[in-house]
Order: sequence, then C-alpha cells, then structure tokens
Amino acid sequence: MIKKISKSKKPIKAEKKSKGFKIDYSPSLEGTSIVTIKPRNELFIGGKFVAPKSNKYFDTVNPATGEKISELALANKDDVDSAVKAARHAYNGEWGKMSGKDRGRLLFRVARILQERAREFAVLETLDGGKPIKESRDVDVPLAAQHFFYHAGWADKLDYLAPNKKVSPVGVCGQIIPWNFPLLMAAWKLAPALACGNTVVLKPAETTSLTALLLADVFNEAGFPAGVVNIITGAGETGAALVNHPDVNKIAFTGSTDVGKLIAKSIAHSNKKLSLELGGKSANIIFADAAIDQAIEGVVNGIYFNQGHVCCAGSRLLVEESIVDEVVKKLQRRLDMIRVGNPLDKNTDLGAINSLEQLNKIKELVDLGKKEGGDFYQSSSPLPKKGYYFAPCMFSNVTSAHTLNRIEIFGPVLTIQTFRTPDEAITKANDSRYGLAAGIWSEKGSKNLKIAGALKAGVVWVNTYNKFDAASPFGGFAESGWGREGGRHGLFSYLKID
Ligand code: ADP
Repeated sequence: MIKKISKSKKPIKAEKKSKGFKIDYSPSLEGTSIVTIKPRNELFIGGKFVAPKSNKYFDTVNPATGEKISELALANKDDVDSAVKAARHAYNGEWGKMSGKDRGRLLFRVARILQERAREFAVLETLDGGKPIKESRDVDVPLAAQHFFYHAGWADKLDYLAPNKKVSPVGVCGQIIPWNFPLLMAAWKLAPALACGNTVVLKPAETTSLTALLLADVFNEAGFPAGVVNIITGAGETGAALVNHPDVNKIAFTGSTDVGKLIAKSIAHSNKKLSLELGGKSANIIFADAAIDQAIEGVVNGIYFNQGHVCCAGSRLLVEESIVDEVVKKLQRRLDMIRVGNPLDKNTDLGAINSLEQLNKIKELVDLGKKEGGDFYQSSSPLPKKGYYFAPCMFSNVTSAHTLNRIEIFGPVLTIQTFRTPDEAITKANDSRYGLAAGIWSEKGSKNLKIAGALKAGVVWVNTYNKFDAASPFGGFAESGWGREGGRHGLFSYLKID
C-alpha cells in the first residue's frame, strides 16, 4: 500500500503511521564499558596532555540524548602557538631526520593499533557524534585504519612520485576538520602528512573531538616522537589562530564553503600551501535502463547514510521521466523502512543529528522547502523523545530553482527532479555552484563512461554510491574545494618538489 503522490503545489503532510513495511527488531545495544570518557580533556601538545593557557573549557554533548558527556579545553592563541612550536621542534629534531622506512613503520603501528582498538573507537565515535554504531564500526574505523596502512606504504617511496627531482616535506601543517566523520577525517589528514615527513597541529570540530584525542593516545602507544602530532580543541577562533599562525607552512581544511573561502582569503598574502575540501550538492542520476531496485538502495545510501552528514551526499536525485513514478513510490516505501533511533542500537539505520544547531538548520530549510512547493514525503518512523533526531524525507516534483536543490543541507533530505535526455541530465547535474561528487545508474557501460566524463564532479560513482578507498583521490570542482586527498594525488599537497 503506497501513498499516492500529490500533484498539487501544496506540500503534503507526512504519513503518521507506519504502513506495515517496517520490521521491528528487539533492541540490540552495543555496550559502552569499553570506553572511558574523562570528565575533562586537555590539549595534546608535545606528546603530553596539558591544561590550556586559556584556563577555559567547554562542554561536549551526546547528540543521542542531548546530555553533556565531557569537557574540552578551549585553545586560545597562546595554546595554538605552543602547539605550533612543539610541531616545529619535532620537525627540526628526531622526526625530520627519520628515514621514510622508519616513518612507515610507525604509521603501520598506528593502523594496527586502530584495528586492535576498533570497538573502543567505534563506540566513542557513536557516543560523541550520534552516528549509528554499524557505520562507525563498519565504515569509519576500518577506513581510518586503511588510510594509515595505505600511507605507511608510501613513506619510503616518495622519491618515485617525481623521478630525478628532490622531494621533501612542507614542514608544519595546520589541519582543521569537521564533525561528520571525526576519526576518518583525522586519518585522511594525518596519514598523508606524516607519511611525507611533516609534523602536524590538528584541530577537530568542537562537537566531535573525542576520537581525535583518543588517537593522541595511539600515537604515543605507537612510539611517535613528542610533538610530531599535536591536537588542540576549540571552535572557529582556535581554527583561525591556527590558520593565521606565521610558522605554519600548510593548511588543510575540510568544512563549509564559507569558512573555506575565509581561510583562502586570510592566507592569500602568505606562501602557505592550502588544500580545501568543502561543500557539495551532488547529483545522483537514474536512467530508465538502470536496475531500479539497486539504484533505490544506492540513493538511500547516498543521501540517508550518516544522517546525510556527508559532504558528497547524493542529495539531488535526477530521474528519467518515464520511471519517476516507480522510483518515487519505491523510495517512499524504502523511507518507511529506515529505522531512526538510538545510534548505539545495532539495528539503527539513521542515528542522531550531530548538534541542536544542525537539527534546527535542517528543520528551517525543510520548512522553507515546503513553502517553495513540491511534494513532500517524510518517513513515519517514530523518533526518540530525547536527543536530536530528524526523520528522513524527500521533496519530489521540484525544479532546479528550488532552494533545496541549490544549497547544502547536511541532513537526510532528498530532492527529486526529472529529465528526458542524457544531455538534460548532464545540464541539470552540472547546474550547481558545487562539484564534489555524482552518481550514475544505468546498465549501459558506454553511456556511463560518456556521462561520467561530462559531469563536473571530483568523484563519479557508477552503479554505486559513497564508496571510499585510501588509494582513490577525493576532492571537488568549483566551490567544492581545491586539491585532492587520498591516493597518489593527495600526497603532492604535503610535499615540496624541486
Ligand atoms: P560545518 O558547517 O561543517 O560545521 P565549519 O566550516 O563551520 O563546518 O567547521 C569546520 C571546521 O572549521 C571546524 O573544526 C570548525 O571549528 C572550524 N572553523 C570554523 N570557523 C573557522 C575559521 N574562521 N577559521 C578556521 N577554522 C574554522
């Protein structure tokens, strides 16, 4: 029994009751005893946890309950300076003289320790960020370990990147990461920087710093010299102090396009290297000749994975007109089967929205979307009473001008448009200020290759979505960023080649 899609311009209300597709499982909660959360966390500078010179701390909460779980040190300019000095000291000292082979050995150790402590990291990631345990366990932690394994292998082979040239590290790197994949983004940043022989000051996002701080423990356990990795906590001001520190040689940033632009402006006069991985509004295109049920799963994975907190989320669905009714019906049915709830429950598909601020932003944008028109459909899944949750939803029958088709929402909200020809699909997919990723669903190989070549997106997935690999470069076109991370390409932004 499928809800009929309204053709009226008036938004339709979400169904209140589940329509019987949903399978109810008994709760299966992951235990949390493996994790010890300190009531107060200090800064990790020069191999030690030290109190901040600012004497200030701020709260971090579990978004699944809205309750405080710990306090984080707030790094001010002086703290940033101490961290940069520790990184410079390590760069000029033991680390700078270490062979690539020995750096690789240490990075392999990090990867192996991450695997040994995988459950601890997965549970902490879920407690701190609200993502379902099955994602932290099966995606975030294994991929983070993979990044260290992959880059460990490069550490003694860097000369092969540019034969007959001198390849050397850039120096001290300031790295700033967001809250959607806290541990994985830390791994994306740290592994290549360290493999190339740099030292690092890393600033995780203010709502999700705990796994980065636990990673500090791993670097000590692996035997890294003091000061090679420094981890400082704080919000935008701390990040800005790091960006503007005169002794930082490279900034690597993942986050919003607005902050990325600010950073680019503020260091334009310096000779700091910069890589930016910013927002996205990625198109996922289904052709009539696609395997529809597979495509539906890919669309669900593309937009509802990690609550839509994915910069490359396939948030704009483009469907060939002849199959749109079928696709919309199937998606509505699938939406009702998504289990939203306690992220620690192994059955949960969609966990908590990362913060109250983000939840309010999603609600505001969805309200705006309803005013602008289109057919709105939202899952009838009941939401937990406490914590920050939002039921997955979609807007079909919308145009390219619809605000929700143009701006990044960073939530479980899909828009659906139609097209009649491959050229129209390409034009609509490229009609965006962003260009991070795209997806194509079709059984025709040559068509896939032709369309992929015409899409202005850093990554194009064919008959799949949201697949990542340390060997594969990732990055964007236009306002989605500068430079690539991962693979051979990603190493160049951490090296000087003379
Ligand atoms: P999001 O919208 O994903 O939270 P932000 O760009 O606001 O993205 O944040 C990403 C990271 O950038 C976070 O670690 C945040 O603390 C940091 N940040 C925010 N503002 C600035 C700034 N002006 N300079 C440097 N870093 C910043």
